[in-house]
Amino acid sequence: MAEKTHEAVFLIFRGTPENGEYKEYRIQVVDGMVVLDAMMEIQAKFVSDLGIRCNCGAGKCGSCSAEINGVPRLMCKTRLSDLPEGQPVKVGPLKSFPGIKDLVTDVSWNYEVNKTMTPFTPHQDTEWRMQQFEVDRIQEHRKCIECFLCQDTCHVIREHDKKKEYCGPRFLVRLASLAMHPLDAADRMAFIKEKAGIGLCNVTHCCSDVCPEKIRITDNAIIPLKERIADRYYDPVLTLIRRIFGKRKSNI
Ligand code: SF4
Ligand code: SF4
Repeated sequence: MAEKTHEAVFLIFRGTPENGEYKEYRIQVVDGMVVLDAMMEIQAKFVSDLGIRCNCGAGKCGSCSAEINGVPRLMCKTRLSDLPEGQPVKVGPLKSFPGIKDLVTDVSWNYEVNKTMTPFTPHQDTEWRMQQFEVDRIQEHRKCIECFLCQDTCHVIREHDKKKEYCGPRFLVRLASLAMHPLDAADRMAFIKEKAGIGLCNVTHCCSDVCPEKIRITDNAIIPLKERIADRYYDPVLTLIRRIFGKRKSNI
């Protein structure tokens, strides 16, 4: 049976931030196509120099992040059939990061932020044993594919450009996975409060809404970290207990 096709219109950002504009392309699309398929076809047929960053095509490498009809999404996981029918599909680069060309942005700021964090630091003479519930608790955080869609959508970065003061939701997820790791001995609480700037997050949940891995960023990473900061710095009873018994071994 022949595949059912219909014409679809795409408005794709071409050029650089200083000298760029949305250009129109029309192709025949078939059922099941995703936005990345359409970009590849447009690249093959009309504009061989169309800048796209992609790799696995299966939602696991986090490379093909873009803004589709103004919403941060992975191009490889966005079916054309899930977008409004009969309307042009607008595809642009992530707005929170400097554009390089067409749909490609420079996300290197994220890697610089990552380097500022103390990595996993096991307790001395640790016994390498964990309970299943401890594994389960951090498993969700470790699903992150570093697509940076949450970073792109977070208004603290996007609208207020607080990149110097705030690490963003992706890295609060990383800090939460380390803070909840039972074998980790590093104390990152001061870093989370001061350098990572967790106080700038006002728990709008926008980051969770765009996460392709469905990580509950605010509920299961940011809020638990905020609670630990409150316990550490603002709970008078815990402060008194710490003064009497000394600093706790754990970073909780
Ligand atoms: S919940 Fe916090 S981190 Fe997530 S988008 Fe809102 S302000 Fe940003
Ligand atoms: S937390 Fe989710 S949205 Fe953010 S970088 Fe990781 S996978 Fe992407």
